[in-house]
Amino acid sequence: MTKRVVLIGHPVAHSLSGAMQQAAFDALGVDATYEQWDRTTLQLADAVGEIRDDAFLGANITIPHKERVVPLIDRSTEDALATGAVNTLTREGRRLVGHNTDVPGFAAALDRLVGRQKMPRQAVVLGAGGGARAVVFGLIREGFQRVVVFNRHLHRAEGLVRFFGRSAAHMELKAMPWHESIIESELAKTRVLVNATSIGLTSDESPLPAGILPGDLLVLDLIYNRTRFLRDAEAAGSIVLDGETMLLHQGAAAFSLWTGQPAPLEVMAAALAEARAQGLRSAEGEPAGETPVPAIERSEPAPDAEAAPDAEAAPASEEAAATTAG
Ligand code: NDP
Repeated sequence: MTKRVVLIGHPVAHSLSGAMQQAAFDALGVDATYEQWDRTTLQLADAVGEIRDDAFLGANITIPHKERVVPLIDRSTEDALATGAVNTLTREGRRLVGHNTDVPGFAAALDRLVGRQKMPRQAVVLGAGGGARAVVFGLIREGFQRVVVFNRHLHRAEGLVRFFGRSAAHMELKAMPWHESIIESELAKTRVLVNATSIGLTSDESPLPAGILPGDLLVLDLIYNRTRFLRDAEAAGSIVLDGETMLLHQGAAAFSLWTGQPAPLEVMAAALAEARAQGLRSAEGEPAGETPVPAIERSEPAPDAEAAPDAEAAPASEEAAATTAG
């Protein structure tokens, strides 16, 4: 019997994930179809209940249900527990297990960005939503010693810092107010800069003015596009990478969880590129771009200009944690 995998979100149109997963099933002869289910929050519990049936291999969960799905399932894995968000479901009989494959997706993107250089220990993260949680957890697990999170609404960044309080106890994780002068001074002390805001997703805007970007950073934008932010950073001399690698690897990790097989990465990457050329969007909402621009390749590795670790302790925040939406 043909097995089913569904993407549950609201709204979901035909997505890059669908194209990439179906191509992978077909290439490895897995008898399965990938469907998109547009389900509102009120419909979420019923949709999750349906997946318990034998007909399903599992599901992807996307905006706006990644956090809401947690109480509806039976168990969460370490990455899902650590981030408070689930983007992939698998079945154990009628029990549902929640995973967060954005975490290995980010780890793959970071590896590619850093290349053969020594792994840096300082990062600045812009944004404090669901994507930022996967990023910050990935940086903590990678052994970063200092991570500063800037967000438009400071209380949300402070909530994120508090959420990771225990897993970040050995390092410095700070929330700071979004002032350009403060960001500029933090950038002078950092090596890795990640845009986890949605600025640049639907318009040609950058979260930061080009003038404050130093020229020796490793810069990742989670947005699956050649954003203004990446163009400015590259023009300043930094090494840059867009969100394609993370999208591909979160999908590959989900594929392996459903099928127990290594994902056919090249097939999935080719399907992504083709779907993008046809104007499809990812489940995260990245514009596929009517004029597709290929993912940015790494240029020559920059010299390792890692700044000295700052030993100052992170201030504990008492602000209430805000709910992430993604
Ligand atoms: P959320 O909605 O959870 O968070 C959005 C973030 O963007 C918040 O930090 C928000 O700040 C900030 N933001 C939005 N608009 C503005 C603005 N006008 N000015 C300043 N800040 C703004 O979304 P996600 O975290 O799920 O996604 C964030 C981005 O990452 C999206 O572009 C998404 O496509 C991408 N993504 C890519 C993935 C991949 O595999 N490549 C995986 C996951 C996400 P505030 O809290 O102040 O509102």
